[in-house]
Amino acid sequence: MGLLTIGAFAKASRLSPKALRLYDELGLLAPARVDPVTGYRLYAPEQLDQARLVAWPRRLGMPLVRIQHVCTLDAGLAAQEIRAFWAQVEADTAARRDLAAFLIDHLSWKDPAMNLGIRYAALSDTGLIRESNQDTAYAGSRLLAVADGYGNGGAPASAAAVDALKHLEIDSIPAGSLLNVLEDAVDQAKQAVHGIAGTAASPGKAGTTLTAMLWTGSQLALVHIGDSRVYLLRDGELFQITHDHTMVQSMVDEGRLAPEEAASHPQRSLLIRALGQGADATPEMRLHDARREDRYLLCSDGLSTVAPTEDIRRVLSETREPEQAVRELIALANDSGGPDNVSCVVADVVELRQ
Ligand code: MN
Repeated sequence: MGLLTIGAFAKASRLSPKALRLYDELGLLAPARVDPVTGYRLYAPEQLDQARLVAWPRRLGMPLVRIQHVCTLDAGLAAQEIRAFWAQVEADTAARRDLAAFLIDHLSWKDPAMNLGIRYAALSDTGLIRESNQDTAYAGSRLLAVADGYGNGGAPASAAAVDALKHLEIDSIPAGSLLNVLEDAVDQAKQAVHGIAGTAASPGKAGTTLTAMLWTGSQLALVHIGDSRVYLLRDGELFQITHDHTMVQSMVDEGRLAPEEAASHPQRSLLIRALGQGADATPEMRLHDARREDRYLLCSDGLSTVAPTEDIRRVLSETREPEQAVRELIALANDSGGPDNVSCVVADVVELRQ
């Protein structure tokens, strides 16, 4: 079979002639021959497979440079590369979905007639195995936070991240600027942690998770980076409202790992987002309408890794005061061996007396 004109080849490959000319210029798909007189590009029928390998990832929105790389790989590696690209697209979309939900909530909010407030307690414990406590837990009248430091300088890193948010306790937040205030606060926390990581004995290794909630008087705004968690106890039911930013969780999301395998995975604590040098510090942000009798728990993985969710739910349901709840939750982790530092913050949404 002879060579095909660019028009015929475009039709057969489902690429436009314009796209074919671009791919030629980029070295993605060179024509078999260019007519020296007319300059017309001519393609061999055997090039159709190669053209399809360009066309289909293009429909997924894969950038051309990345397709260029895929074209050099054998089928197995090309499949892996496309899988990785798609996982990234889905992660980006999920992050934007959260942001969209945040904005929608923020713009649709109306002040409740009720006068609500929070009652809170925070407690952090070294556990039974570790020599020092690298976690930081904090609860104040507006700010609730848990940070789980890692590496050389993990303790000052988690403390610095939480300290950087404490001005939110007193700052007034102008109406409509909550999202900006939170974003700035996370940025300050990031700078503070980078300052620590830069001076530690092994620079770049220290970092921390950061999971915090800000009480605005009628809502709770959440920022979350890493694998500490927030649970909500509502009407006796327990909901995990954060997503772990771990390698293992992303493998579960992609369907490459069963959730029951995740719990015992040797690399279950490997973070894909954190505050630290070189780490992705994109926060998950969300806004929760305050509802009377809701109880929030912020905890480090020292609790969630060892304590069954049902036990956490039971303690949160059966204890009255937040102080008692945090004490019993820490006892729960230590009764299960206390292999890690453990931090808990419990906050109840209550109706204030006039
Ligand atoms: Mn931990």
